[in-house]
Amino acid sequence: MGAGPAGLSAAYELTRHGTPVTVIEKDPHTVGGIARTLEFMGCRFDVGPHRFFSKSAEIEALWTEVLGDQIRPVSRLTRILYRGKFFDYPIRASNAFLGLGPIETARCVASYAQARLRPVAEPKSFEDWVSNQFGHRLFQIFFKTYTEKVWGISTSELSADWAGQRIRGLNLVEVIRNALLPASLRGGAERAIVKTLVDAFRYPRRGAGQMWESVAARLAKVGHPVRLGEEVVAVRHAGGRVLSVVVRDGRSATLDVLGSEFISTMPIRELIAKLQPAAPSIVRTAADALAYRDFITVNLVLDRADVFPDQWIYVHDPGVKVGRIANFKNFSTAMVADGGLTGLGMEYFCFETDGMWGWPDAQLLDLGRRELVALGICRADEVKAGMVYRQPKAYPVYDGEYLGHLAVVREWLRRALPNLWLVGRNGMHHYNNQDHSMMTGILVARNIAAGADFDPWLVNTDAEYHEEERSEDGSPTAVRGGRDVPQRIAS
Ligand SMILES: Cc1cc2nc3c(=O)[nH]c(=O)nc-3n(C[C@H](O)[C@H](O)[C@H](O)COP(=O)(O)OP(=O)(O)OC[C@H]3O[C@@H](n4cnc5c(N)ncnc54)[C@H](O)[C@@H]3O)c2cc1C
Repeated sequence: MGAGPAGLSAAYELTRHGTPVTVIEKDPHTVGGIARTLEFMGCRFDVGPHRFFSKSAEIEALWTEVLGDQIRPVSRLTRILYRGKFFDYPIRASNAFLGLGPIETARCVASYAQARLRPVAEPKSFEDWVSNQFGHRLFQIFFKTYTEKVWGISTSELSADWAGQRIRGLNLVEVIRNALLPASLRGGAERAIVKTLVDAFRYPRRGAGQMWESVAARLAKVGHPVRLGEEVVAVRHAGGRVLSVVVRDGRSATLDVLGSEFISTMPIRELIAKLQPAAPSIVRTAADALAYRDFITVNLVLDRADVFPDQWIYVHDPGVKVGRIANFKNFSTAMVADGGLTGLGMEYFCFETDGMWGWPDAQLLDLGRRELVALGICRADEVKAGMVYRQPKAYPVYDGEYLGHLAVVREWLRRALPNLWLVGRNGMHHYNNQDHSMMTGILVARNIAAGADFDPWLVNTDAEYHEEERSEDGSPTAVRGGRDVPQRIAS
């Protein structure tokens, strides 16, 4: 169920073992799930830029196997845009103070001195913790706005633990020392920064979706084409096993698809609601309580060859809603058919319940254009056209209760329906990047096809697996990176 990275990786692995597989995907045209690539006026756009980078040699090898010379290395250039100025990301003291100018720098230093003299005694919130380390003024410029845009929660309500994990060991003195001293005299924290600075990743020539289009083509070649435009509307079970899924195609005809093992990548909340007969009410309540953050991309085609050199920029200005702007031709020149044009993907983080989610496309396109102009990125008349993409459930939310809810669902499924496997990001309500989503699918496929006994729930949980060099949203609050997700302060 689902032709995103997890479902397609599971299917690919099954066919390698000679096991027949049916992949059902509700989208009528496109595979790849959140890692798809959209095309508009000859420009290609990911749903938020997707870097290919994994600590798993097996996953890296799989990308190479499928894409060959179609996947290329990219050296990362990303900066922060704040009040019309670009700042290096990760933040460097010399560059930051140069950009802020002498008056603002003096204010930042005074605010830092104040924080050292009178720190918040027991910092509970992200805001208190970072202000203690860097001073309130720098916190407001470099930490507050983007974090609040991404998560939709005030930094005064976010738990300090998250900041502690991500920027551990650093404070303003450390950052300045690192900026001024030669490498031989710098300490451990600097090594972490350098690690982030040399960040490089791989990227398919025609966008993240090229990987998934290629896997789907390979599946079709061995007789298992993805069934596009078919939505799973019910999962039927009896006698402790799932027997079939009911799918509905675009013409609203329904049919039963039989199978012996079932792999779900759809959001847990939806899967549980689709079980027939219904799951016990305690399980339905737990699944219903899982929360998500949603995401809109406004994709604009500009009639200009060079707009900015970064792959993406973080937008810290509080006056605009956009959080990040990706320039896809800086990932790969093949992302635009006409080199005279540029495709920009503007990211708006929101909830499905926000007014913005329901805005007409024309209003969102207008907002995107106005914000590009307000940020000084282009002139209004340079924006030729655009299209909007809404991605529901882009981020599984880790609130204070989610682990308990997940445990209820997992434990019941494990006992009641052992031939129903959960994999992927929303499929496991786990903040997985592509590599982890893929690995969960591959391990389950091995359990099914080769009688292995892997536990997909262990992927992306051990400390080693928490990469330090990258975070998927790339939040600039992260000097050390990581994929951990912030939580509200426990009440
Ligand atoms: C903004 C953003 C940036 C990201 N950046 C990166 C990055 O830089 N690098 C990286 O590796 N990862 C990145 N990720 C993470 C990556 O997108 C996910 O890990 C990956 O797409 C998850 O794969 P999946 O198969 O589990 O789920 P999905 O991609 O969500 O795919 C699930 C599929 O199931 C289908 N489906 C759902 N319900 C049904 C149904 N009832 N019937 C049939 N089909 C159904 C959906 O249509 C979809 O195609 C990013 C994610 C976001 C949101």
